[in-house]
Amino acid sequence: MTIPFLNLAAAYQELKVEIDAAVSRVLASGWYILGPEVDAFESDFADYCEAAYAVGVGNGLDALVIGLRALGVGPGDEVIVPSNTFIATWLAVSSVGAKLIPVEPDLATCNLDPKRTASAITSRTKAIIPVHLYGAPCDMDPIIALAREKGLSVIEDAAQAHGARYRGRRIGSHSDLVCWSFYPGKNLGAMGDGGAITTNRPELADRLRVLRNYGSREKYRNDVKGMNSRLDPIQAAILRVKLKHLDAWNARRRKIADFYLAALKGSSLVLPQNPDWSEPVWHLFVVRSRQRDALMAHLSKQGISALVHYPIPPHRQQAYAVDGLSSDAFGVSDAMSDQVVSLPIGPHMSEQDARKVTSVVLDFENGTARM
Ligand SMILES: *Cc1c(COP(=O)(O)O)cnc(C)c1O
Repeated sequence: MTIPFLNLAAAYQELKVEIDAAVSRVLASGWYILGPEVDAFESDFADYCEAAYAVGVGNGLDALVIGLRALGVGPGDEVIVPSNTFIATWLAVSSVGAKLIPVEPDLATCNLDPKRTASAITSRTKAIIPVHLYGAPCDMDPIIALAREKGLSVIEDAAQAHGARYRGRRIGSHSDLVCWSFYPGKNLGAMGDGGAITTNRPELADRLRVLRNYGSREKYRNDVKGMNSRLDPIQAAILRVKLKHLDAWNARRRKIADFYLAALKGSSLVLPQNPDWSEPVWHLFVVRSRQRDALMAHLSKQGISALVHYPIPPHRQQAYAVDGLSSDAFGVSDAMSDQVVSLPIGPHMSEQDARKVTSVVLDFENGTARM
């Protein structure tokens, strides 16, 4: 018996009839760039996120790059990012030529620590990028209050948080711009690359639309030096189908997370914590263990695939060796990368498989306790 980390083929099987029809509709339409399917998805997704506008782009990294460009972030500016995030958050800042200012997370939430964020602000700071890591909302109110006070932009990386709520409201419009990825493994995943940006600000929505399409409002007239990063209509049609099921699929993730939390309560693992203002969507179920590698080996022997998000923090990556970041300055992130392990979770995981995972974890705990 094997338990996969995430079963994407099962997701397709559940919606096969609807997805096949949506893809055929686009193929038959003869319209393959932007157009009505992308418009329709943008409108559905904006409504879902409780935002006024959504702009579909090529992927999540581009969403962040285009978002930063729309806010006028560039060379000479400093941008505050979490030290513990997927590399895309950092790459976006590097790609617009701004300077990264990594800030360590609050260990309770694993998200940007508002106090450390406040101390990282300088006269050059232009923007803050909170990430809703693992699908759990970052504490936005103190960050937005800070940004208001200092005149900074806030741009959220919500690539792991489709459907999550912060203080009762969906992630999607708390800050200036909210960036999304539809990479297949995300809670709302396409069958290829895709991304979007949501916002309540009409002038920013307009700028995003221009930037994603060659800096052009009108064909062959280029107002700014834009990009080619457009959400594909076939992916938009698939996403429209999947969006209708997102709440139900997130509810199934929550059920598994609740089961894990209850079953592993007495163990030595550090379990995810959820403040009362947070409604996470469990993109990942991340625990911390001092014997992480041995635990993973034990899980693997029993056919359970667990993963590490992320094994090498951005400041330790070769790509950032040249940036002169002091490699010992991010001890919290270093400790996380040594201790975190993500247990399998997904809308197509059975209760039986979840039970098997917890019993194998508890076996390991009892075994090591005896040693
Ligand atoms: C997936 C992800 C991205 C990037 O998305 P792509 O669509 O793969 O470019 C950005 N930030 C975070 C936190 C992610 O998890």
